[in-house]
Amino acid sequence: MSAANLGAMQHDWTMRITHVIDHAARESGTREIVTRWADGNETRTNWAGVRTDALKMAQALQALGIKKGERVASLAMNHSRHLVSWYGVAGMGGVLHTVNPRLFEDQLEYIVNHAEDKVMLYDAMFQPIIDKMRDRWTTVEHYICFDSGENSPAFEDWIGAQDGDFEWVTGEATDPCMICYTSGTTGNPKGVQYEHGSTLLHAVSGLQPSTFNFSAASVMLPVVPMFHAASWGLPYAGAMAGIKFVFSCSNEPAVLHELMDREGVTDSAGVPTVWLAHFQYCDAQGIDLPKLKAATIGGSACPRFMIERLMKNGTRVQHAWGMTETSPIGTVGGPTWDWDKLSFEEKVDKTAMQGRPIFGVELRTVDLDDWTKELPRDGKTSGALQIRGPWIIKRYFKAEEDCVDENGWFDTGDVGILHPDGTLQLTDRTKDVIKSGGEWISSVELENAAVGHAEVAEAAAVGMPHPKWDERPVLFVVRNEGSNVSADDINEHLKPLIAKWWMPDAIEFVDDIPHTATGKISKKDLRDRFKDYKLEG
Ligand code: ADP
Repeated sequence: MSAANLGAMQHDWTMRITHVIDHAARESGTREIVTRWADGNETRTNWAGVRTDALKMAQALQALGIKKGERVASLAMNHSRHLVSWYGVAGMGGVLHTVNPRLFEDQLEYIVNHAEDKVMLYDAMFQPIIDKMRDRWTTVEHYICFDSGENSPAFEDWIGAQDGDFEWVTGEATDPCMICYTSGTTGNPKGVQYEHGSTLLHAVSGLQPSTFNFSAASVMLPVVPMFHAASWGLPYAGAMAGIKFVFSCSNEPAVLHELMDREGVTDSAGVPTVWLAHFQYCDAQGIDLPKLKAATIGGSACPRFMIERLMKNGTRVQHAWGMTETSPIGTVGGPTWDWDKLSFEEKVDKTAMQGRPIFGVELRTVDLDDWTKELPRDGKTSGALQIRGPWIIKRYFKAEEDCVDENGWFDTGDVGILHPDGTLQLTDRTKDVIKSGGEWISSVELENAAVGHAEVAEAAAVGMPHPKWDERPVLFVVRNEGSNVSADDINEHLKPLIAKWWMPDAIEFVDDIPHTATGKISKKDLRDRFKDYKLEG
């Protein structure tokens, strides 16, 4: 007998999402799930209730004739019924397609048809989108409304017709359970299909103290939408830890603030703009920020002043980096081993970087001029950021070819610096970094320096063709309301902050800067808008 089979473990336990909800219902069944609906009403359920409803939903989907592997779409905010559908769809072997309601009409048409969604679950507030898109969506056979039976069957009635006597559909760890589309800043959106096993591993890694730091006592109000990159995996990691969730269909700071206070929220997660709005609200009301233990901030760079203010409030800032293609968590920031030795300023500096890779993913940077050359992790050299791991994309939905190299490296399109302690510092996007006279200028660092000026509301740096230097930076600036700040003022502000050769060749004042559907600056649209722009030699 070989040593290998002298004993055995239960490796026939397949990594399926149904284990997550079974565990949550069994071990934390009474832990509450609170929803504040769009109309102001509130409801409460718990993990046991979510599981019961998910079983009924799985039955209801089968009754509609939905088969294993087919896509079920949702167009919805964060609430308990949306949570039920995460588990109900996966539990019947289906694939939940969380659609971003902020996408443009052409994108909405493209992704629903491309995913061949069979069912559309939606919030009543999105009825106008449904009315507009219905004729353009060619595969959707059933419409179910999450919160009202006015125009389509109501979700509660639809699942209420079932008894919940259902066995989860079994299968492989590699079966898909969710699909999310990238926002398509270049070309059509691309589908990223998450698998049962990849999702489960990603959620387990999310439980590390140095990731979301959940405990059974955690109370999380996720502001990051369930339709954005699987809500960073929080609905799965939260179920594993048995935390209490507080969901809100409204992102009004007043609503969030009141819920955070009243429900004892300890943790939140969202893009930086969420906190910006919250700061403004608290300042206008003359009230304190909510006493959160931790705030996970990601999706775009978290500004330094935001980190400072939250840290002074006693909130740990977990600055995270990831993308739809990475399920999405790649790196998360938090206290490192040298934390206690750092000054407050140094802690803020470190938190402004994008954190360290969580277990399961590997990062490397390669030379922007020679992609075969891997760069040192010296905290200085920036290069194209690549990633690999079990929850990183290998092939886009319906694509014929893999999108990784022969060793599994996926090119993120980001540019960054890796530090010796593993910290990632993002400096730009490969398409946005500015090449001047053979050297690279980080458009993001230039923008960050510019928005540090008190009268600058928003700034975008773009490399414009230059006869001598190849490209030179032009800074587009939106002034604060009522401000007359001049280009000279901004240049004076920039001088001590950036290298001389990074100084913009021109500063152009604009009324607005275009954004993508996910609220990020769209350099592509900005370049299109100024396609005839000429810099003098
Ligand atoms: P898209 O908007 O392209 O659909 P994602 O929402 O997946 O996609 O965004 C991923 C991109 O967002 C990353 O590649 C990176 O450029 C940016 N990003 C995400 N988190 C951060 C962060 N913490 N700091 C800076 N940029 C970030």
